[in-house]
Amino acid sequence: MTDRIREFLRDRRPEGPCLVVDLDVVRTNYNTFARALPDSRVYYAVKANPAPEVLKLLADLGSSFDCASVAEIDMALAAGATPDRISFGNTIKKERDIAAAYQRGIRLFAVDCREEVEKVARAAPGARVFCRILCDCVGAEWPLSRKFGCVPELAVGVLEHAHRLGLDACGISFHVGSQQPNPEAWDIALASAAEIFRTLSDRGIQLRMVNLGGGFPTKYLKKIPLVKTYGRAISNALRKHFGNRIPETIIEPGRGMVGDAGVVKAEVVLISKKADNDPVRWVYLDIGKFGGLAETMDEAIRYPIRTERDGDAKSPCVIAGPTCDSADVLYEKTPYDLPVSLSIGDEVLIEGTGAYTTTYSAVAFNGFEPLRSYVI
Ligand SMILES: *Cc1c(COP(=O)(O)O)cnc(C)c1O
Repeated sequence: MTDRIREFLRDRRPEGPCLVVDLDVVRTNYNTFARALPDSRVYYAVKANPAPEVLKLLADLGSSFDCASVAEIDMALAAGATPDRISFGNTIKKERDIAAAYQRGIRLFAVDCREEVEKVARAAPGARVFCRILCDCVGAEWPLSRKFGCVPELAVGVLEHAHRLGLDACGISFHVGSQQPNPEAWDIALASAAEIFRTLSDRGIQLRMVNLGGGFPTKYLKKIPLVKTYGRAISNALRKHFGNRIPETIIEPGRGMVGDAGVVKAEVVLISKKADNDPVRWVYLDIGKFGGLAETMDEAIRYPIRTERDGDAKSPCVIAGPTCDSADVLYEKTPYDLPVSLSIGDEVLIEGTGAYTTTYSAVAFNGFEPLRSYVI
């Protein structure tokens, strides 16, 4: 929560659930990343929060952008980014979208298999490609599974194939899992990356870039290490595995760039019990999984929730959204302590919601409008 957000909510009193994003926090976060990893270029992961004001600010600060679709590429271009500052980082692309990106001047593409390399070679001849390797994501609160990346042994063949087809096989990427609380998580992936660099060097292909991905956390309820600590751990791992031949690096923060810049204002619609002797109250908010809080899936992300009665005694609550879908329950397995005095109609503030909220909200499930956002 920032003073600017508090004042905005007090003065404007917006109706309905909404996200308010403070650009000052985004600016501070950008500068913090730039200072903590001075030798890395920052490619902001647009999907975390694609609000035009956020993209414009980051473009003005000198950020580059990691985009997953032609629509995101167009948003980054509209914000003022030049094509050389945009990466098409999705490993799953239609060939015609690769061509559309190439036509817009984009020359940097992610791949994780030979089939995708062939598409890029046809639709974006001569472009730079980096191969994403699998990462076990241990410890991440929002792990990224096996959907993206290949095993390091396969990456060698993928990049050789790219080279053979006239592409510029430039490097390796990985993602250690989103909301990664362990700064050492980059070490194993960097060991694999260095191994791939050596193998390909022996075969006459000189890689020169490592894309370190995202994973930098936002503070929710638990304490997290400073970005500086991540920077130090990553530089140490780079020195350990690459010696004095440290490659060019890029980072793709999404959550860490915007998560703590946003607060969702919501309202208590109903408080009830399922039985008279039930110790747990059900608290229904006017925002739920389909209104932008999808990362509460499996109760993975636990947001700080503030009320105006936080000084009062608390008791456990199940927190649920307003839609007629039984999946629309935010916290039940681990109930959430809220003030006993909390009442229907009270406003609640859900902190750390600047990332992955507006982009996850449904268009009109049950007629609830998508999460409105104000960028100040
Ligand atoms: C989503 C995504 C990111 C951002 O991850 P965070 O954990 O939010 O920082 C970075 N890179 C790629 C390729 C992504 O898909």
